[in-house]
Formats: sequence, C-alpha cells, structure tokens
Amino acid sequence: MERETLAIHGGYERDSQKTMAVPIYMTTAYAFDSAEHAANLFSLQETGNIYTRIGNPTTEVLERRFAALEGGVTALATASGMAAITYSVLNLCGAGDNIVAAHQLYGGTVTLLTHTLKRLGIEARFFDVHRPEEAEGLIDERTKGIFFESITNPSIDVPDFARLVEVANRAGILSIVDNTVATPILCNPIELGVDIVVHSTSKYTTGQGLALGGIIVEGESARKKLLDPDRYPHFNQPDPSYHGLIYSESGHPPFTLRGRLSLLRDMGAAPSPFNSWLFIQGLEHLPLRIRRHSESALKIAQWLSEHPKVKGVNYPLLPGDPNFDNARRYLKGGASGLLSFEVEGFEEAKRIADSVRLFSRVVNIGDSKSIITHPASTTHQQLSPQELEAAGVSEGLIRLSIGLEAVEDLIEDLREALG
Ligand code: PLP
Repeated sequence: MERETLAIHGGYERDSQKTMAVPIYMTTAYAFDSAEHAANLFSLQETGNIYTRIGNPTTEVLERRFAALEGGVTALATASGMAAITYSVLNLCGAGDNIVAAHQLYGGTVTLLTHTLKRLGIEARFFDVHRPEEAEGLIDERTKGIFFESITNPSIDVPDFARLVEVANRAGILSIVDNTVATPILCNPIELGVDIVVHSTSKYTTGQGLALGGIIVEGESARKKLLDPDRYPHFNQPDPSYHGLIYSESGHPPFTLRGRLSLLRDMGAAPSPFNSWLFIQGLEHLPLRIRRHSESALKIAQWLSEHPKVKGVNYPLLPGDPNFDNARRYLKGGASGLLSFEVEGFEEAKRIADSVRLFSRVVNIGDSKSIITHPASTTHQQLSPQELEAAGVSEGLIRLSIGLEAVEDLIEDLREALG
C-alpha cells in the first residue's frame, strides 16, 4: 500500500462499535479475567493489556501505523522525542559502552549524549556526518550503535545513507536514525538499510504544535545484529528482571520488546493515550502537509538566496547546496519546511528575529504556524563555541520552520524584517 493510504488506515481494525475514528482508551489499567489470565499476560504466554505504562490500545494503533509508514516490523511510542532517543541508546549501551554519533544533531540530543549519558558511563564519540570514514575510525568492540539524523536540525544536512549504513553493517552495530524532520513521507531510513528509526512526534506528526511525543521503529534487520552475543550480551542472556526472558529468543522483535518490558516499565516515559490519538489525527494528513511545507520552504530559500543581506542559505534542494545530491538521492518529493540562513553576526540575527510579525519566535519546528529561531541564543545556548561550530551553528544563523500560511505573506514578513 502507498504511504498516503497507510497514513489513514494503517494499524486500525474497527472493533464491535465500528467507530470510523480511532477511539481514545483513556485508562491506566485493564481487568484480568482470572489470576491465571494475569499470570499468562505477565509471562507473555498470552498477549493483552496490563497497564498503560507498557501498552495501550490507542497508542498501539499509532505504533502499528508508524511501523507501517516506516517499513518497520513494530514500534514503541514514548512521551517525547527525547525519551525515544534516550531509550534507543539505553537499550543498547550500559556503563563502559560507547555510541558513535554525528556532530550535526538537535541540541537536546547533543547534551543528552555529551553530558547526561556520560554521567552513566556511556561515551559518545562524534564524527562529521559528511565523513563516514571518521565514524568508522571511532568504532571499537564496546561501540553499540551509530546515530545520525536524516535531515539535521538545525544545520540542515542530508547524510550519505549508503556509506553510513555500510560502516554500521561492516562493524555489525545498529544504525539509529532520527527521522523527525524528514518524516516517513519524505525519507524511509529502513528502506535505505537503517536498523532503528526514532522520531519526535511533537513536530510534523501532530503538525500544529499540540502535544509532545516520540516513537522508536524497529526494522527487520535489527534482530540479526542483536543476535551477536559478544556485542549485545543483554539481548542474548536471561534478563533477571523479567524472570529469565532472553529477548533474542522470545519470537518478538527484540529491540522493541526489551524497550517496552524493561525501559518503559522501569523508567516510565509512556505517552498519554490522548496524545497518541492526536498523533493519529496528524498522520492522516501528514503526506499533504509535508509536501506543502516543502514547496513553500523551497520558494523562500530561493528568495533568501538572492537577498543582499543574506550571506548564505541552507536548504538541501537549493541547487548548489552541498547536500543537493544526497537530497535528490535519499529524499522523496521535498526536503521539509526547515531551512536556515546566515546574516552578519549575533546582534543582526537577533534583530531580525525580533522584527518579524507573522513568524513566531518559538523553539519548535513542524508547526502549521511559521517559526523563527536564533539557535545561538536559544536552543544551542548551552553549547560551547567548539560544540556550536561542530553542530554547524554560527552566531548569525537563523532557522525557519516554514508553516502552511500563504508563501507570499511569509516572504513579505521576511522582506520587512531584513530591511
Ligand atoms: N529530534 C529532533 C530532530 C528535534 O528537532 C527534537 C526537538 O526539537 C527532538 C528530537 C526532541 O523531541 P521532543 O521535543 O519531542 O522531546
């Protein structure tokens, strides 16, 4: 089935009430028929609902729909994109392990990897996303994964998937891609050979800035790598916290099963069923919206690139952009609504961000309402000058998230603000 169809029907089978819209199962817990029924559910002899922290029927529709859209085998929804990223790393790494990650990442992911996980004994080793050979040189026997974004935020790079997947496969480590900006409509990392896809559903999935959420999608290829008992012992040895379950032998997709039964159970960043329902609504028209976001962004990028006060524009589908070839090869039908441009210095960038009237000064992306952000004074404020440079964020960089307003009105607003 085509993605437009999956976005509307994927993962939902009507129950006896025959509701057209997916129902919201707003409940914390579920009744067991008997003590034996409960025991069977806990021991995975039977499938069914136990407690919303580890599963919920509304959330399950979202998980199935996302898995279908991404071409994965199953998915695990979380309370935020950061929870999805944290769990995808914690599912692989313990103290003493390391993860190889692109420099060009969302600022929250950089601080998670550089500071928070470091305190747990997990090391992040960074490489330039355009130099896969650098990544290869960082991998050792304690490396558990390679992490990058399909369209990077805020530097707007598109990596060479083929080469990065080759690096991961040669080393036998899992590849994890944050596909938030591209969405499953514009890019399908699993089809490109990636093992795990993560999303912040707070962005284009809701589409209107309505709720926080995240999701982890497992590709079929993850299982084979996780069978390596030396690289991934915790997937191949009995889990004492789940009466000796061996995830790789469970018959279920192991990455998701461990994420649900161990991480979600113990750390608890489960989504609200109401938020899952909002994301299901958003997915229905995501294919239409993301194409419109992309068309308007391209027009604005073209307009900005001719403005005398603009030193440079980053948009992968702008001819001459260093990411143009990768974007043409790996993105389908657009490059999202995210673009950035550079003006002369910190103060000028702040002045422009203060002067717009239609764009909102907000630290978010993927909303129907257009957004302007000055990363150096907001999202990336905590990064050192070296980290800023590595993340491709200069002091005069302005990021735009192009919404669904008339593109002429957006250009007029920028024209006035640039002066
Ligand atoms: N990944 C990317 C690419 C993002 O842009 C963001 C947030 O801006 C996140 C992850 C984190 O998502 P959330 O805010 O849902 O935790």
